Amino acid sequence: MGEKKGIQAILDNAYAQARQVLGEGRVASYIPELAKADPSNLGACVLLQDGTEYDVGDFNIPFTMQSISKTFSLIQALQTAGYEKVFSIVGMEPTGDSFDSILQLEQKDWRPFNPLINAGAIAVVSAIEGENIFEEFVELVQKLCGDDKIMLNENVYHSEDMTGNRNRSIAYLLESRNVLQRPPVETLDDYFRMCSVMVTAKNLAHYARVLANDGIDPGTGERLVDSDIVRTVKTLMLFCGMYDESGQYAMKVGMPSKSGVGGGIVAVGRDGSGIATYGPVLNKKGNSVGGIRIMEILSRELETYIF
Ligand code: GLN
Repeated sequence: MGEKKGIQAILDNAYAQARQVLGEGRVASYIPELAKADPSNLGACVLLQDGTEYDVGDFNIPFTMQSISKTFSLIQALQTAGYEKVFSIVGMEPTGDSFDSILQLEQKDWRPFNPLINAGAIAVVSAIEGENIFEEFVELVQKLCGDDKIMLNENVYHSEDMTGNRNRSIAYLLESRNVLQRPPVETLDDYFRMCSVMVTAKNLAHYARVLANDGIDPGTGERLVDSDIVRTVKTLMLFCGMYDESGQYAMKVGMPSKSGVGGGIVAVGRDGSGIATYGPVLNKKGNSVGGIRIMEILSRELETYIF
């Protein structure tokens, strides 16, 4: 990691360069509420292991987690149902298909490729055990992000529910093969809600720092997630976290990361640091254009590339 006094300058420069490429994409519109995002928004937060924080731009604007929720639901499933159960219904292989692909289920294997595509996440959400699964999910997110005000965005949730027919198709296909562990309607309702929980880049940097420290919050010294679970989640983030752009992104950025169509990217640094970006303008794969550019520059200049 570079000299501390230089980090803010590196971040400011990455932000300025990323602003130049925002015209190369568009905000998500397949979930109508997401189309209301401001395409000029861009921000980032870098949180070092010792708690020093560097921010730029819209690091404090809340947005919905979308697919980033898949890492939290995976943690919750591994904590409540265990590794054997979870990986009996979902695989751990990357996929070259889009995040909401149905093809694989019909053509290749009834078990979704991995927990970070929609089919895999829906299967994982069905395996979570507990009394109040969504409330417990929000508590987990609040704890890992260090913010007890994190909550659901009702409008996005309803918008997802109204337009989620592709995810419904996936869930019913999985149900027809006996993969789902709970009824499709209940599972999908939790899945839509989880995607619609709001966070900021700062919240996600806090989460990434916990993952970067093997599940311990370095601020309090408290263990929040078992290190075996953290290792599983980080490995999947590296190979599958950026949908069908994961290989190219790993080559350019080299940090376990997860994106969401709300515009967030969360990335685990090599040296106990957490990095997150927000920029709702997405490329064709559904990843944040400005966020990727910031991550590329930071990974090179702060030497957070893990290889
Ligand atoms: N809620 C979105 C969906 O299921 C999440 C997808 C994403 O972020 N790629 O379509």
